[in-house]
Amino acid sequence: MTFQSLGLAEELLKAIEQTGYTTPTPVQMQAIPAVIGGSDLLVSSHTGSGKTAAFTLPALHKLIDRRPSPGAGPRVLVLTPTRELAQQVEKAVQTYGKSLRWLNTACLVGGAPFFAQAKQLQRPVDVVVATPGRLLDHLNRRKLKLSDIEVLILDEADRMLDMGFAEDIDAIVAATPAKRQTLLFSATLEGVVGAMAERMTRNPLRIEIEVAKENRGQIEQRLMFADDMGHKSRLLEALLATDGLQQAVVFTATKKSADELSLSLQEKGFAAAALHGDMHQTQRTRTLDRLRQGRIGVLVATDVAARGIDVAGISHVINFDPPRQAEDYVHRIGRTGRAGRDGVAITLSGPRETGLIRAIERFTGDRLEVHTIPGMEPAPRRPGPSGPRPAGGNGRRFGSGGGYGRPGGADRRPGGGFGGRDGHASARGDRSHGDRRERGPRG
Ligand code: AMP
Repeated sequence: MTFQSLGLAEELLKAIEQTGYTTPTPVQMQAIPAVIGGSDLLVSSHTGSGKTAAFTLPALHKLIDRRPSPGAGPRVLVLTPTRELAQQVEKAVQTYGKSLRWLNTACLVGGAPFFAQAKQLQRPVDVVVATPGRLLDHLNRRKLKLSDIEVLILDEADRMLDMGFAEDIDAIVAATPAKRQTLLFSATLEGVVGAMAERMTRNPLRIEIEVAKENRGQIEQRLMFADDMGHKSRLLEALLATDGLQQAVVFTATKKSADELSLSLQEKGFAAAALHGDMHQTQRTRTLDRLRQGRIGVLVATDVAARGIDVAGISHVINFDPPRQAEDYVHRIGRTGRAGRDGVAITLSGPRETGLIRAIERFTGDRLEVHTIPGMEPAPRRPGPSGPRPAGGNGRRFGSGGGYGRPGGADRRPGGGFGGRDGHASARGDRSHGDRRERGPRG
């Protein structure tokens, strides 16, 4: 299939040609003709699928089709969770709209001067890309009207909801005309996202794009044996100080142990926080915001609370307590390796937890590679019926003389990495920001 066959205007085909893309991606193939045909969309797709072009190209096509009446407000509105994503989308709009000399865009995000943005809105703007908080500021101060919006796009809707933007989004949508076309993109279309989608769309076409295997980040799965809880704690601290660790989710079996472990890590200087089901929703949302903003380096979580967390900076998942249910293991390690990046998942096993490890290996069909940290190897043990590894493990076999850590399978050296001790939390300043904490005039 070619871009020509999707029905896009000549001006856009020219811009696509200049980018060098020859074939539309699956999400583009399905979304572009549907949007041109006037359909609302619910799309589950990920970064890397070509989703930005999938909504930008047909939205621009609609702008070309019918020029605005004088004095009209913006006709396309894209909402994104973070300012980085908003800037990226605005850039895509400018790239694909290169031949449209009359095209004006505005990017309204937190953390940038409000009045400069307000000034920008004094001239006609065709496409607005914004984070919800800042857009609402402009709306409330009457710097902008949304009554001419023809296409409303919600990009990464699940993340916007995670970040606590539900009310802001409702208020923004209420200010757009009911006859608008709505395109909602999200990693998932279930749960609260699904409910929001139902409220905002009319007979939407549902498009679900599987992430191609080769585009998925690789998750390296490791196993480390510990003699007791004290040993586990020392291993955890060493791992959290590993070079290359950006952000980590540490899983515990209970809410109480999540609180306790988080507190103990804080005392040791790590930028840690707990996340579990006993916390109020607002508190959980705030914790997730801080995680996304990079202000939390180590999230200590229980299974249920951590489901679906999608933060690209999570480089490591550490199972302080191995999961009781093997399928939870898959959900846990999926918190890393997001957005096509690689990740590391390390499971710490005490002497009585080896049965759980075997259950995980049986369930996933993957063998966990045994690692040790030099100087922190587990004590040698005698073989027994509850031995830590079934025959044929990657690691040295249980009772074969060197403990159950594989000699030479050393983990990364401790030191450096993400300890809070030397203020690593602030080192995350380069990560994505929502605009919640950096609202302009509204505070
Ligand atoms: P996105 O999923 O929108 O973040 O896009 C992921 C990357 O794929 C971006 O770098 C795009 O420039 C690129 N891209 C988008 N559409 C195509 C295409 N049809 N062929 C090749 N690359 C593309």
